[in-house]
Amino acid sequence: MNKLTAGLMLILTFISISFAQQLVKKNAMKTNPYYNTSSKEKINLPDQEWEKILSPELFNIARKKGTERAYSGTYNDFFETGFYYCAACGNKLFESDSKFASSCGWPSFFEAYSETSVKYISDKSHGMIRTEVLCGRCDAHLGHIFDDGPKPTGMRFCMNSISLKFEKK
Ligand code: FE
Repeated sequence: MNKLTAGLMLILTFISISFAQQLVKKNAMKTNPYYNTSSKEKINLPDQEWEKILSPELFNIARKKGTERAYSGTYNDFFETGFYYCAACGNKLFESDSKFASSCGWPSFFEAYSETSVKYISDKSHGMIRTEVLCGRCDAHLGHIFDDGPKPTGMRFCMNSISLKFEKK
């Protein structure tokens, strides 16, 4: 091997190492241009686009209607004062004042932050008839609502922690 070939190989090695580093960085910090805690603008994006933006865990729940394991979520046993936003788009969903210890294994709230925070659709999957709760802005799957909650509403919003992002007031 002459000096020129050795030099070229060295340069090529450096280029591929820095390219690999860039790739790792890009995947570690997927940026989400739709995350905005002050916008009310509706987001209508196909799953193929969401898949590029969201982490695999969030994509599975928000877009594929998955459910995190009971008692496994960050916010199941979490009672700090602040707001919970949609992890996919930043829409304000719940206030900590409406969170309660439900012992069902998932973070639970008795009311949504506002009328436009969430929307409801009928869910007949898994041999049950349930009401599914979606983000009012981006349609991300958040969880389900049940009528066995505490006063004053009697409702229990049973949510996936992964679909939520808490921020202090
Ligand atoms: Fe959202």
